[in-house]
Amino acid sequence: MSDDCLFCKIIAGKIPGRKVYEDDAVYAFEDINPQAPTHVLIVPRRHVATINDLGDGDAELAGRLVLVARRIAAGRGLAESGYRLVYNCQAGAGQTVFHVHLHLLGGRNFTWPPG
Ligand code: AMP
Ligand code: ZN
Repeated sequence: MSDDCLFCKIIAGKIPGRKVYEDDAVYAFEDINPQAPTHVLIVPRRHVATINDLGDGDAELAGRLVLVARRIAAGRGLAESGYRLVYNCQAGAGQTVFHVHLHLLGGRNFTWPPG
């Protein structure tokens, strides 16, 4: 855990979060400023600042984040209508919280390219 990381504090229960899912390696919670009817953040329990900081040994963890997103999406009836999965890596891509998080967005239509 990183003492000054917002998402580490949510995972540790030190600041409130609306938990959606947890297991030994992955934690998911509702985004505080949802950009779609479903907006869930799926994060590793371990503090990893950006996608750049994942190593070759993190292949299973990276896959588990996606599979948890798939499971939450299916549970919310989004499997057929569709959903978007997004990682913002570094400030230039819009990353504002430096603990890796996968955005699961669904329940509305999305355009491409993203903004
Ligand atoms: P990003 O811009 O990709 O780093 O995404 C950070 C996300 O974290 C944004 O969608 C924020 O709305 C969300 N966020 C910030 N603070 C909190 C919080 N306390 N609880 C839940 N989500 C948060
Ligand atoms: Zn963290």
